[in-house]
Amino acid sequence: MNGNLNGHNGAAGGFRERNASGERSPLDDVERADTLDVRRDVRGEVGPLIDSLRTLFQGDRATASQGNATRCGICYLHFPLAQLEYRESEGYYVCAGCGHALGAARLPMVRRQKRL
Ligand SMILES: [Zn+2]
Repeated sequence: MNGNLNGHNGAAGGFRERNASGERSPLDDVERADTLDVRRDVRGEVGPLIDSLRTLFQGDRATASQGNATRCGICYLHFPLAQLEYRESEGYYVCAGCGHALGAARLPMVRRQKRL
């Protein structure tokens, strides 16, 4: 450690201050790691869910910004028009995933989605 520098500064308080502000790596790294752990604990089990949703919505915005895309009337995520089926009787677009989940079921909506 900095024996020579501390020797000039006789007061114990000065020694402590110097340690707190001067020596960065060992203590600060431990504190940073603790903070990250606490943050992980706060998010708990939903942490991975939040991350996956963030990825999902980033992808959705990217698709929406490309143009020639619109929302699925069920899950409300954007898809290229080529990947959507417009159901004339119900009046909205359905993505492949929602179409599969719906199967033969029909789901009427209050408002019709405009066909593009
Ligand atoms: Zn969908």
